[in-house]
Amino acid sequence: MTTCLRCGRGLRAPSSVARGYGSSCWKVVGRAACSLLESSNKAAHKAAALLLDGGVRRTRMAGVYLVPSSSDSNVVYLCDRYACACRAGGCGRLCYHRVAVTILSKRS
Ligand SMILES: [Zn+2]
Ligand SMILES: [Zn+2]
Repeated sequence: MTTCLRCGRGLRAPSSVARGYGSSCWKVVGRAACSLLESSNKAAHKAAALLLDGGVRRTRMAGVYLVPSSSDSNVVYLCDRYACACRAGGCGRLCYHRVAVTILSKRS
């Protein structure tokens, strides 16, 4: 069964399955992605694409996600809101993976 990328609950409605999010989570994630797209920052656009096009996968650990590399789709990074396994993350920079994951793991 397809589960919501944000909360992990099972998705039944075809529109929710297509989006990858339940309707209440989509309100949060879709709004956040739209405001990222309004920014002129390239990294913000990449984070929005991760949220909208999927590619991010949940793990068994709450708040920890597998995020695909933009340069090599065979590479995935383990990422949570505090750290990311990608090169920028290793340098302590805030990468767009973390921007996307922070939105996904935010509880409102
Ligand atoms: Zn959800
Ligand atoms: Zn990263």
